[in-house]
Amino acid sequence: MPALEIRQLHKTYGNGHVALQGIDLTVEEGDFFALLGPNGAGKSTCIGIVSTLVRKSSGEVSIFGDDIEKDPIAAKSHLGVVPQEFNFNIFEPVEEIIANQGGYQGVAPRQVRERTRQLLRELDLWDKRRVQARELSGGMKRRLMIARALIHEPRLLILDEPTAGVDIELRRSMWGYMRRINEQGTTIILTTHYLEEAEQMCRNVAIIDRGHIVKHDRMKNLLRQLDCETFVLNARETVEELPDRIGPFALRHIDEHTIEADLPKPHSLNELMRELDRLGIAIDSLRNKANRLEELFLRLTGKPPAAEETP
Ligand code: ADP
Repeated sequence: MPALEIRQLHKTYGNGHVALQGIDLTVEEGDFFALLGPNGAGKSTCIGIVSTLVRKSSGEVSIFGDDIEKDPIAAKSHLGVVPQEFNFNIFEPVEEIIANQGGYQGVAPRQVRERTRQLLRELDLWDKRRVQARELSGGMKRRLMIARALIHEPRLLILDEPTAGVDIELRRSMWGYMRRINEQGTTIILTTHYLEEAEQMCRNVAIIDRGHIVKHDRMKNLLRQLDCETFVLNARETVEELPDRIGPFALRHIDEHTIEADLPKPHSLNELMRELDRLGIAIDSLRNKANRLEELFLRLTGKPPAAEETP
């Protein structure tokens, strides 16, 4: 049984804006799934509907076989959501925020106590358990949101832009934790602007654009479709003239010290360097222009992925 099944999901907002134009999406149990798309694509609308915060116009959504409309209580019991915005009461102590959610989800009091303790430890919030949430750092608040979403041991966890504005160290430890709970059986869906993370973390991916799913595939298959990478090369000396192409490599003169080169598969960077050497151009350093998923994204949607939010 899939963790999430979405059929022909449509959403038109009250003002007539069509946000989802008939989306089909299946996420299998145990998956680590990425929902990617530029700003305004419909990701939050989709997640809002799945978590019953937004009313769908038509279509069907079920979570582990339970329809969100016909059996909302069962459907919601399978689901934990970590929204983008902090939405807890900042004057409440940390452990109470987690425990109260357990009560709200109908978890037995003794289990709530045990589980709260466990989550406080796992998410490194133990020392802060008695302080008001407003005293936590941004990263701790994010971890608190995760703990709260996991109190009822949901089988499906949805993370909406989980690392927006989160520092690198926390991001790393957060992903370590997500990987562990995924290995233990929790299905995870995330939306993210950090495409590299989706590339590293996720087995399957759907790309949504203007209310349509434009791609739904294994991450590996998507990446395999990319047959060309672009490199930015810094030349040691001024480059006066540059051909449009040498052999299989397309070249672009960006400024007097900078060249862009397309490297089609299966040609190697070594070959490119040899060709440039032959032209008398020495390269001091280089970087990959875009990650492969970003390139793919551009090709599919004609737009760059949504800009990263500044912390
Ligand atoms: P994403 O999460 O991919 O950025 P959203 O789901 O937030 O996209 O938005 C999809 C589209 O629906 C956008 O064009 C947005 O402006 C519009 N939209 C979102 N919420 C509302 C709303 N409450 N009323 C009207 N339009 C909305």
